[in-house]
This record gives sequence, structure tokens and C-alpha cells, in this order.
Amino acid sequence: MLSVSEAEAIILDLVQPLEKIETVTLENASRRILAHPVSSPLDFPYWDNSAMDGYAVRYEDLRGCDRANPKILRIIEEIPAGIQPQKTIASGEAARIFTGAVMPQGADTIVMQENTQRDGDRVTILQAPGDREFVRHKGAFYQSGNALLGSGIAIGAPEIAVLATAQCTQFSVYRRPRVAIFSTGNELIAPGNALQPGQIVDSNQYALRAFVSDLGAIPVPLGIVRDRPEDLEATIKKAIADADLVLSTGGVSVGEYDYIEEILAKLGGKIYIRSVAVKPGKPLTVATFEQEKRTCLYFGIPGNPVSALVSCWRFVQPALKKLSGLGGDWQPKFVMARSRHDLSASGTRETYLWGRWDIINGGYEFSLAEGDRSSGNLMNLAQTNGLAIVPVGETAIAAGEKVCVMLV
Ligand code: AMP
Ligand code: MG
Repeated sequence: MLSVSEAEAIILDLVQPLEKIETVTLENASRRILAHPVSSPLDFPYWDNSAMDGYAVRYEDLRGCDRANPKILRIIEEIPAGIQPQKTIASGEAARIFTGAVMPQGADTIVMQENTQRDGDRVTILQAPGDREFVRHKGAFYQSGNALLGSGIAIGAPEIAVLATAQCTQFSVYRRPRVAIFSTGNELIAPGNALQPGQIVDSNQYALRAFVSDLGAIPVPLGIVRDRPEDLEATIKKAIADADLVLSTGGVSVGEYDYIEEILAKLGGKIYIRSVAVKPGKPLTVATFEQEKRTCLYFGIPGNPVSALVSCWRFVQPALKKLSGLGGDWQPKFVMARSRHDLSASGTRETYLWGRWDIINGGYEFSLAEGDRSSGNLMNLAQTNGLAIVPVGETAIAAGEKVCVMLV
């Protein structure tokens, strides 16, 4: 059986970023991934400007001045932000200036208002400024033509601030992956319907949709499919024809009604993974379908809702990140935390225990979810933000010891 890291490596190898590129504007760029580096024709700051409310002066005029030896300058202009200065500052002169306003010709330094005393069109400088102090120079933070943001960067609020400032209002992003999702099982009903004896509400469909949209991809929900080979085949055909990635839950164990693998093979899927030494989530099927000009990646995930989410967090997430064009770091993030509970595992499979990490007194601490922690219970999944990992070969981690926690 494959180890978790072997399975992860195989999966990441099977995925290539989507090729098709789209153009978006600032208004609809949030959570998209840049497909090409962006540069700007503008310097930033756009022009020399003041970092303070105060006075634009010539540094040379104020050398050595202080409270005992103040210097008086004549104010020849007032420059609010947004106004182009009209005059040149000569020796003995200053301009009243405000934060962000353009530096006038002749001035090279700002004296902050707090170090001055105003009297009509005169200002007394009570402390010598540093040379070029409080001036933001044109191009000091960014020079036109240089790379502003590289490809593979996810666009969020800070990136939008940068792009807007640099007047980059349109740019190329990767197409959002389309992810087909369906649940399999004769026992499943959609939420909101009356439960008949023996039925179970299909939670996976909804959990996986949220998981997919949180990663910036487009979920394509295909509903519940009965454990009937012909129905499954029809849905899988439809899914692989349309989607970049398919997530089906259920039907991948060894039971009588577990048909997924057989159908994938029948439809020409190349199966790379059948099971992984992981708990929960051992029966994981990963296959590819070569479609015209693209590869569709298929994940057959176990139906158990806890297993389904753990599989998504551990294996689907890196694949989806790489597929979406995100640069570099697709693997999950891990931290070492002090466990607040005794953790146990069989020792034969890498075991993921759900719960929460917090930072307490500057260090990570992990607490198991409260209540029943058998994989049939998902009611304590809510508020999970981490999975503690007990490695293969270990059967216990005692409370107080360090444990590796995967952030989710
Ligand atoms: P399976 O992997 O199909 O053998 O399902 C394993 C367990 O998970 C069974 O108890 C199923 O009833 C349950 N299950 C399967 N699919 C879902 C689903 N979509 N939502 C909630 N529970 C499910
Ligand atoms: Mg089933």
C-alpha cells in the first residue's frame, strides 16, 4: 500500500496547471491566480511627495538649527494633496505642505509640523530636520517596468491594492478549475427530504462543494447517484467530459456495491492509486482520463463523511491548488504542537485525528475534538482547524508531547 507521501507525490505529478487563460478586471479578480507576471508603466510613488503634514524646505537652510537657535522661513505657497505646486522654493523660503502632496521644486526635505511654530506667512523651525527627511521619492518603492507581481500569485485584498495603485486594471489569470462532485449510495437522500428508515442525508455533496469553492474552483454538483453500474457509468462519463477534476464519494471500498473502480477502468481511466496507508480514508482511488487536449483527474473518495473531508484536505487540496495555477507551495502546512490529549493509533497507517490548534503562551497546542471520535461520527467535525498526525510505526503520543498538526 502506498504511504501518504508517496500518494501525494503521485497525485501532484499527475496534475498540470490549467492552460487556458482569462482576462479579469480589478472588480472580479478576487481569489483568481495570476497567469502572467504583471508590471506597471508607472513609478511608485508617482512623484516626490511629503510623508508628513509640515513644511517643504531646503535642508541646507536649516543645518544646525534648534530651539536655542531657531530659523525663520517665509512661506510662499500652500500645497494640499492633489495640487501641483506653482512655485520654486528659494533659500530662506518654505511651502506649507500636507501628507501625500507633491514636493515643490527647490525643496528637498520636510519639517514636520510638530517641530515648527507658525506666525502668518512665517514659520519658525525649532529643530533641524535630517537630510531629505519625510520625502517619499518618485520610484522609491517601485520602478516602472519591473515585475510587480509574479505569475502563480493568488489575488486577494493586498494584491488588489497593489494592482490598483499601479494602474493595472486588467490582467491574465488562470481559468478556474471545474470540479464535478457527486455522491454515490442507495441510502442517500438530499437534505430537506423526509428520512425513510435506513436512509442517510448526503452531507458530502455539500461539504465538498464548500471545500471546492473555498479553493477558488467552480463546483459542478451532479447530485446523488444510486449504486447501479449503469447510473454510475452515465454520471462518470458526464463528469469527465465536462470537468477538470472529479470528486465522487462512496463506492470505493471492497463491498458488493462498490463499483467505482471497475467503471473507471471500463471507461478507459488509468488508475494510479487504489488505497493509501492512511486513517481515515484508506480506500482512495485516483485515476486520469485523457480528454481532447486535457487530462481529467478523478478522485474516488470514501463515503464516510470524516474520511471524505480528510481525503480532500490531505490529497485533493494540493492537486486543486496546482491545477488552479497557484505557484510553488501546494502541500498542506504543518506545525509542531503540544498535544493536550493522549493520542492513539494502530501504528500501521498514518493516522489523522481531527481537532483544534490554538496558540497558548506563544506555542501551538492541539486539542482533539470532543465526544465520540470514531469515524462514523461527524457531529464533532465542526470547528476543526487541524489534524494531528500519528505516523506509521507509532501507536501513542502522550498528552504534553509534541505532535505534527496539519492545518486545514
Ligand atoms: P461507502 O464508502 O459508500 O461504503 O460509505 C461509507 C459510509 O459513509 C456509509 O455509512 C455511508 O452511508 C456513508 N456515506 C456514504 N456517502 C455519504 C454521503 N454522501 N453523505 C453522508 N454519508 C455518506
Ligand atoms: Mg456506498
